[in-house]
Amino acid sequence: MTEKKPFVSAQRLREIVKEYPTPFHIYDEKGIRENARKMKKAFSWNKGFKEYFAVKATPNPFILKILKEEGCGCDCSSLTELMLADSLGFKGDEIMFSSNATPPHEFEFARQIDAIVNLDDITHISCLEAHGGIPETICCRYNPGGTFKITTSIMDNPGDAKYGLTPDQMIEAYKILMTKGAKNFGIHAFLASNTLTNLYYPTLARTLFKFAVRLKRETGAHISFINLSGGVGIPYRPTDEANDIELIGEKVREVYEEVLVPEGMGDVAIYTELGRFMLGPFGALVTTAIHEKHTYKEYIGCDACAANLMRPAMYGAYHHITVMGKENEPCDHKYDITGSLCENNDKFAIDRMLPKIDMGDLIYIHDTGAHGYSMGYNYNGRLRSAELLYKEDGSVQLIRRAETPRDYFATFDFCDVLKDMNWDA
Ligand SMILES: *Cc1c(COP(=O)(O)O)cnc(C)c1O
Repeated sequence: MTEKKPFVSAQRLREIVKEYPTPFHIYDEKGIRENARKMKKAFSWNKGFKEYFAVKATPNPFILKILKEEGCGCDCSSLTELMLADSLGFKGDEIMFSSNATPPHEFEFARQIDAIVNLDDITHISCLEAHGGIPETICCRYNPGGTFKITTSIMDNPGDAKYGLTPDQMIEAYKILMTKGAKNFGIHAFLASNTLTNLYYPTLARTLFKFAVRLKRETGAHISFINLSGGVGIPYRPTDEANDIELIGEKVREVYEEVLVPEGMGDVAIYTELGRFMLGPFGALVTTAIHEKHTYKEYIGCDACAANLMRPAMYGAYHHITVMGKENEPCDHKYDITGSLCENNDKFAIDRMLPKIDMGDLIYIHDTGAHGYSMGYNYNGRLRSAELLYKEDGSVQLIRRAETPRDYFATFDFCDVLKDMNWDA
């Protein structure tokens, strides 16, 4: 069980919305920092450990700065994410470039800023060679195929995933890369997402560590790091049990000492690329109930929609909801909580038992800190919301303004087709 409690009080939120109208995502600086420190401590047994925050989860420069201060690097998957990391002063080996189907000019920029390139395919070797060149330190993404099991339960299906190289391709790729001047190698794999078991990383680590031993034996390559990537989950539901990162770190250490150390590989650095675990619980989407509708079901219409948070519409994902100021009232009303898109899947919750909602109530949607704002889109011409930072001293900082119609229409600025637009509408 996990207690789902907003990190900001109803009273404080009432003050905040006077200055910043809903909807907005708000992030908890204190929570982010404390969690990042816990993460770092859990792997402090490993000398080279580094968490490369998955930028796609929360691509906000203010958030990235906080994580940088806590010692994190950046994991980027596109040119704009690389540009963001570079502009914030992340340097060379503080940037991981884990992309796939990579446009060649993105390899070029990654090499320009000396980011660590993580290749998703054996054919990308020649592409990288032609576009930026082969660096001394390089990583390849591993896909063992089949199903990924923890003890006997199937966690995910790597054999169906588009990512990574097969085991034989990995061996061949390392041999080719060595002939082209690469000297230090990494291995990366992301085999299951949003896992809620302390065994995910240790199980993945065993697979990767064993494969690292094989790679070293068969190619003579110097393995300098192993990247456990993302996938450590968070308790979206009150009935979920949170992962224990300290225990996870300890279990990975045990596997490290069992598999790598006896092979003389006790200098291998462990990297992670967590997004959800680092930010998910430390963000919330705050929206106002603006309509109620009584037809075949009871509906509450909000001023946010799936354009602000896509996960429920896209994956049927559960996000816990607190009706602010009614935390202690009985959940005796059944609602669908909806947005305004002309799409029937635009619902933040379906048949959810909540306290009676009145118009104007603030609805706090939990755990939107990762893959929340960043998945936003503009369907129906809906605009993306602001992002706020709830700082450690209790003050609030605007860290991204809300989109305006001018942003939405900005891609027509090369011509005058919208010259008669009423911008004051
Ligand atoms: C999305 C992604 C991550 C982060 O995943 P989380 O589920 O947020 O931990 C890490 N690495 C890569 C390559 C990714 O694509």
